[in-house]
Amino acid sequence: MTTVAAYAAPAAKAPLERTTIERRPVGPNDVLIEIKYAGICHSDIHQANEGWGEAIFPMVPGHEIAGVITEVGSAVTKFQAGDRAGVGCFVDSCGTCEACLSGQNQFCQDGVSTYNAIGRDGKPAYGGYSTHIVVDADHTLRIPDSIPLDVAAPLLCAGITLYSPLKRWQAGPGKKVAILGLGGLGHMGVKIAHALGAEVTVLSQTLRKKDDGLGLGADHYYATSDEDTFKQLAGSLDLIVSTVSAPLDLGAYLSLLKTGGAFVNVGAPEEPNSLNMFGLIGGNKILAGSMIGSIAETQEMLDFCAEHSLGAEIELIRADQINEAYERVLASDVRYRFVIDTATI
Ligand SMILES: [Zn+2]
Ligand SMILES: [Zn+2]
Repeated sequence: MTTVAAYAAPAAKAPLERTTIERRPVGPNDVLIEIKYAGICHSDIHQANEGWGEAIFPMVPGHEIAGVITEVGSAVTKFQAGDRAGVGCFVDSCGTCEACLSGQNQFCQDGVSTYNAIGRDGKPAYGGYSTHIVVDADHTLRIPDSIPLDVAAPLLCAGITLYSPLKRWQAGPGKKVAILGLGGLGHMGVKIAHALGAEVTVLSQTLRKKDDGLGLGADHYYATSDEDTFKQLAGSLDLIVSTVSAPLDLGAYLSLLKTGGAFVNVGAPEEPNSLNMFGLIGGNKILAGSMIGSIAETQEMLDFCAEHSLGAEIELIRADQINEAYERVLASDVRYRFVIDTATI
């Protein structure tokens, strides 16, 4: 066991505070990562506030982790000390269930999330708001040399969350793709959809971030608070990826899709959403969900981002600014991801 520094929420809705936690000894298949940067994902806040149901406390959030490997277990062959490494939303999967065998180990029936979970050793899993983490090597990602670690960290959740549905629904040349919501997730959606060659539209509540959106690679930018937007774009889009974590008028967005178009939700509102099914059956529309990606697809995303020189737009903060950052995320006041410099923990 190694005692390391971390920031933890001691109870639901309580401010995060500095503490120490125990990391397990480095096992034969493990790597020890010295964390350099940890992104703040909206889901950290949902879970620290128990917005998604009962949670485990104390909680060390953080599943956008970038750092450097400082020790490898005796059976690890694919990493060595000094390698740049990342950890995303899950740290274990069984390798034998249907989800794992179908290449979707993010849905492993026996999987272990990076935090707010119990590990296979029966102990709570702690996330990335910390100086070090011990992770199974098969659930560790390689961060290509060309992506700086601070802007790489958010790729481990925000990046893969958008990359996976954009690939699955074939965003690319000739496709009209809209990203709904220009926040931490949405800004990565714009960058990745543009890099894939799609014609990209941002749908945001207001035009406040229009210059940013166009600068990130969007071709068009519309305000959803403007009723004309829904008239102008009616029936025009192949794909909408929604990053919004609040209830939406789904029918209005389905009306923007072409025949057979897909609305894919990656946001996770705490409240249920209602839908008039006529909006779905007319035009054979598709309403789908998507959650992160497998370890293999996450590596593919990191390599894609390196090839296209993509990283997140970040605001680097000290650990003692985490609580303030949470308030600002809730107020949509971040461009576009807070990243904690873990040397300040
Ligand atoms: Zn996340
Ligand atoms: Zn499994």
